[in-house]
Amino acid sequence: MRISKHGMCCLLIGAKLVASVATAQAAGAVSCADISSQSLKLKNVKITKAEALPSSDKYPAHCLLQGTVNDRTGADGKHYAIGFEMRLPDDWNGRFLYQLNGGNDGEVIEATGDPKEMNALGGKSALSRGFSVLSSDSGHSGKDPANHDAGLAASNMFGLDEQARLDYGFAADRTMTPIAKAIIRLRYGRRPQFSYMEGCSNGGRHVMVDASRMGDLYDGFIAGDPGIDLPRAAVQHAWDVQNLSLADPDIRKSFSRDDMALIAAKVIEICDALDGLADGMVDNLRACQKAFHLEELKCPGAKTPTCLTGEQVTALTRIMGGPRNAAGKQLYSDWPYDGGMGSSNWRFWKIESGIPPWNNEPLIAIMGAGSLSYIFTSPPTKTPGTPNDLLAFLKSFDFDRDAQKIYATDGAYKVSAMGFMAPPDVDNPKLLKLRAKNHKLIVYHGQSDAVFSVNDTIRWYERLAVNSGGNASTFARLYTVPGMNHCAGGPSTDSFDMLSAMTEWVEQHKAPDHIVATVSAANKEVPANWSKTRTRPLCNWPAVARYKGGDPESANSFVCEIPK
Ligand code: CA
Repeated sequence: MRISKHGMCCLLIGAKLVASVATAQAAGAVSCADISSQSLKLKNVKITKAEALPSSDKYPAHCLLQGTVNDRTGADGKHYAIGFEMRLPDDWNGRFLYQLNGGNDGEVIEATGDPKEMNALGGKSALSRGFSVLSSDSGHSGKDPANHDAGLAASNMFGLDEQARLDYGFAADRTMTPIAKAIIRLRYGRRPQFSYMEGCSNGGRHVMVDASRMGDLYDGFIAGDPGIDLPRAAVQHAWDVQNLSLADPDIRKSFSRDDMALIAAKVIEICDALDGLADGMVDNLRACQKAFHLEELKCPGAKTPTCLTGEQVTALTRIMGGPRNAAGKQLYSDWPYDGGMGSSNWRFWKIESGIPPWNNEPLIAIMGAGSLSYIFTSPPTKTPGTPNDLLAFLKSFDFDRDAQKIYATDGAYKVSAMGFMAPPDVDNPKLLKLRAKNHKLIVYHGQSDAVFSVNDTIRWYERLAVNSGGNASTFARLYTVPGMNHCAGGPSTDSFDMLSAMTEWVEQHKAPDHIVATVSAANKEVPANWSKTRTRPLCNWPAVARYKGGDPESANSFVCEIPK
């Protein structure tokens, strides 16, 4: 039986279009144990594990498959391969999900599409919904024992090998896509009816790059807090560290927790009601930027708990303005003031991690510095992997000389960091391949993300809107999340199910006007005066949520409208 996207073979069960399940009986299907390098017959693909797992409390019965692709010796003499895992449920819904992972990749995360790895799933894993899920390490091992001596830079060392850079940027995704679809065909006797990808942070970046490079190969793309300009965002790390040092030479002391809480409280005081309801959330982000002035918090005299020093005001003003070179050229993006800036995740990224082996230095000063030094600049700088050395690399980073290295190539590194890390059309997005196939993209972004600026994503989306004659919402939608930090957290409704919204859009042509978000029970930063069941609509940018009357804790009391 031929499976078509028009549902010829399919049953309408409830509200969802579900492929008729004939898993074990389908012609050409094989059992889990019979999936092997030999039966798959794909060059350079090794299957190392094929194990049928029974159902558990968490997941349905499924086939766990592990393997490697393109085993090779790199230019640095080290071993590389794309490590991967697939989980194929016995009761398959006909859909395929590529789970894109965060950080520097370098680890095969369990291919369960689990909410702990991928928020935006509304608490239910993709595997338990019946998806076949793929996860990969994007072509390198972050725990290669050969890199042990590199200390905290070990997970960045792959940046010395050109192919590993390309795989991390986009090539592993391109390589794995037909392999995963072939495995699905072997297991079930038919190809996936619908294919999706989803990820947040670096995973969101993968999704954005793939939506641009291979928008024809997946029906739906879901990108969270995406690092669309990741090398440029890494230049911001150096800018942050150098400017925080103006407030205190020890950046961990540059802003206390109380200082950041003071700033966030002032943002709420000035901006909260601009969206029509004082509810602890800044929905009208643009109006807020015009109304809020950090200088109003500057101490008239000595520092007290209710004000900031002049150095702190200068430091944060420069950080929020984004990095510039000596000629004043913007090198990344500016940032909006929002109610989530006092949260622990914001602090973890920019100011202080609380991780003793890192000397409690923030994430940008450790992982961020290693990435900028080894991966995002050409030629790479072999910075020793101690907290002090990594911090020193950022402190001495020159915004004229060094910032250009994210665009540089040489004999050993023929593609620049921006070339392999960013979507090829990032500065002038068109998503031509995606549009030609009527495929879809959903992007969401926390307004208080400390590592990738929501303003950069908004600017990208507005350019896409111009490039598509104002019709961007027919194929791409952006949802900003007030108060949310990087991918989750902060005083926000940070639990939402983008995957269901996407499948409905693709399969039932039901475009998501808004997406209902709820507070997470696990989120300790939800203010005490909010209902534990608060819901809010996330609105299709540039619309924002506006209170229309009724229960202020319910999404039903809001409408999405474009601010005047
Ligand atoms: Ca509000």
